[in-house]
Amino acid sequence: MTQAADTSVRNTVILGSGCSGLTAAIYAARANLKPLLYEGHEPGGQLSLTTLVENFPGFPEGIQGPELIENMRKQAQRFGTEIRTGHLTKADLSQRPFVLDFGKEKVLTRTLIISSGASARWLGLPSEQALIGHGVSSCATCDGFFFNGKEITVIGGGDSAMEEALFLTRFATKVTLIHRRGEFRASKIMLERARAHKQIEFLTDTVVDEVHDVSKQEVTGLKLRNLKTGKVWDFPTSAMFLGIGHIPNAKMFAGQLDMDADGYLTTKDYVFTRVPGVFASGDVMDRRYRQAITAAGTGCMAALEVEKYLEQQGR
Ligand code: NAP
Repeated sequence: MTQAADTSVRNTVILGSGCSGLTAAIYAARANLKPLLYEGHEPGGQLSLTTLVENFPGFPEGIQGPELIENMRKQAQRFGTEIRTGHLTKADLSQRPFVLDFGKEKVLTRTLIISSGASARWLGLPSEQALIGHGVSSCATCDGFFFNGKEITVIGGGDSAMEEALFLTRFATKVTLIHRRGEFRASKIMLERARAHKQIEFLTDTVVDEVHDVSKQEVTGLKLRNLKTGKVWDFPTSAMFLGIGHIPNAKMFAGQLDMDADGYLTTKDYVFTRVPGVFASGDVMDRRYRQAITAAGTGCMAALEVEKYLEQQGR
């Protein structure tokens, strides 16, 4: 593939079109930095896969996640953000300007904001991987509709799993929530809502050993194991939705930026990476809060630091 020759040097490139990247873009664009934002294969990030967001300040009745993202996108574009689609394959942060390789094009930039977020985690079973898109899903809002009138399962014990289970009761006759422990990470309010719902049943201390039936190319059931009793049994179900957390999208910076054991970028003073001019914001660097509002907050900080950095460089 031939690469497009874009020899102009950008003031700032933002990786990611979730609420952190878009907030950074709003601030950078309003500072007249003409940011270039790259949107990867999960446009809009996690908010675009969710339903009602009730805890983003300013929306007393809540707002749909995709609508919130669309509003931020329009706001970023209104002030001059350029948005392109592309997946960063390689970056050279040792050169000035930085060189970003998106496969079809190379981009040179004075500063970089990494807001590439985190992607859904899978169990990692071969049968699960073989049935993704055939009854195995990590996105209830995308795929729930296909299981109208069926009995389905959700895996996980955090807020994502509770939210998915509650959402899926719109379609499913019964939702079984399977969690590997007896204690839950989910917030009290979400856990209580799920527990109180008559269509949701809980199976705790239980793990999935296999997803049936790869030969039929559809989910017909799960092989389950109780971790306390050792009991193994087949549990009929039409779909398995994963709500077991996320993995940060930072692998392309391995060796160039600091990361913790799980691959989250580690930063100093909120958004500073070890490379001057490279900042990180949102879920790719935040394993503690991981909220839309905190992702937006660090996106704002990263853009303000870009402005300061460019000023110090005489730009
Ligand atoms: P999380 O809080 O990290 O929970 C992940 C859950 O998946 C845990 O219960 C964990 O079990 C389980 N798990 C992880 N790996 C597993 C595996 N290999 N097999 C089986 N189970 C596994 O992740 P999250 O629910 O995605 O939430 C992330 C953040 O987003 C949180 O801060 C949450 O509050 C926020 N969030 C908020 C909302 C909302 O307010 N509406 C909605 C969604 C998410 P263990 O507990 O045993 O580790």
